Amino acid sequence: MPNSGKKRESVAFIFADRLLAGILTGAAGGVAAGWWFGPVMTGWGWLGDLFLDALKMTILPLVVTAIISGIAPLGAAHAVGRAGAVTGVFIIASTLVATTTGVLTADIVQPGAGARSAGAVVPTVEATNTGLESIIRTLISPNLVQAAADGLILPIMLFALLLALALAGMGPRAQPVINLVEILNEAIMRLIGWILYLAPIGIFALLAARFGALGGEGFRREITSVGSYVVTVIMGLGVHFLTLCAVLILVRTSPLPYAVHFLRALVTAFGTGSSAATLPLAMDCARDANMREPVVRFVLPLGTALNRNGTALYQAAATMFIAQAYGMDMPAAQQAVVVITAALAGIATAGVPQHGLVNMVIVMSAVNLPAEGIGLILAVDWFLDRCRTVINVWGNGVGTAVVNHLTTGAASEK
Ligand code: ASP
Repeated sequence: MPNSGKKRESVAFIFADRLLAGILTGAAGGVAAGWWFGPVMTGWGWLGDLFLDALKMTILPLVVTAIISGIAPLGAAHAVGRAGAVTGVFIIASTLVATTTGVLTADIVQPGAGARSAGAVVPTVEATNTGLESIIRTLISPNLVQAAADGLILPIMLFALLLALALAGMGPRAQPVINLVEILNEAIMRLIGWILYLAPIGIFALLAARFGALGGEGFRREITSVGSYVVTVIMGLGVHFLTLCAVLILVRTSPLPYAVHFLRALVTAFGTGSSAATLPLAMDCARDANMREPVVRFVLPLGTALNRNGTALYQAAATMFIAQAYGMDMPAAQQAVVVITAALAGIATAGVPQHGLVNMVIVMSAVNLPAEGIGLILAVDWFLDRCRTVINVWGNGVGTAVVNHLTTGAASEK
């Protein structure tokens, strides 16, 4: 595979530094404008939504063409199998480490102790299915068009993966199709490059409108009302960020330069609150960091569909907070249930704004907490959503480096 061709299409290669500066300025300006000018900035919201919609528009064709053109040239099923196995192990292990970090942070900080309200009743809600069955069932859709319309990326990915394997097994006859998909993928990257010209203003508008809805004073009040909960989640996310940096060192990648390569994607994740919308940028950042093309095309779409370290950590910490606020005892066995169900809930969460809050019900019901408990954390969720989305994207970036390092032999078969 001519990697240099991909490199030429890399958006980062075209205007890396100016884009990063624009995105950082847009993000800082958006927060400042929302903070100072308050609700009047909500009028800018449509511009941010426009940027978000434009990015989302590219996700489906990007994922399909990236997977087919990334996998088919690998040729050998065992090469794909190895990359898939390493990715799978990374997703499961990093998610469990994240949820454990969330539970332990909440154990140490005890954010719910202060929030305990007089007369809070210990709830009695039946535990429901942990969601494992539903996660597996989301892999296959009887109607791919419907799945695409509903934004269900997993069945589309599975189909693209199987199609790629079929094409790979057909030998030279399939080459024209693989070439076509390859060219389509490069064209989509080009298109994304155009959309990214909107990124600075789009991120400015998204943040200005969101922070402006409250204004600086309102935001401060909202955050301080559940201050120790916010501190707990942010602390947990910070610890997990560092854990992932340690993983990078293990696979001989320097964390700081790698994080700088990913900065555009991380700031965009904060601006949009959507790891799916950030996928095109994340892929570009990974190329910029010299990750191998087939790895980028395979791991990042798969990670964006399944790997949500930040969300899983938040779901674990938030459940612990609510349990503490209700004065519920959480013995070790219950905490283990939180660790496991939050991992499943994180994996089952879609990469869109605040879906993690909805899926938290899976974790809460597993430890008999009432869904109403979510009311305690609702007000600040929009902000924590953006913080956890940053860690979701960082987790996938680190996963890419891990697979890149551990599949060197497999990739050389391409
Ligand atoms: N906003 C998160 C994401 O896009 C999902 C969530 O935690 O709500 O990854």
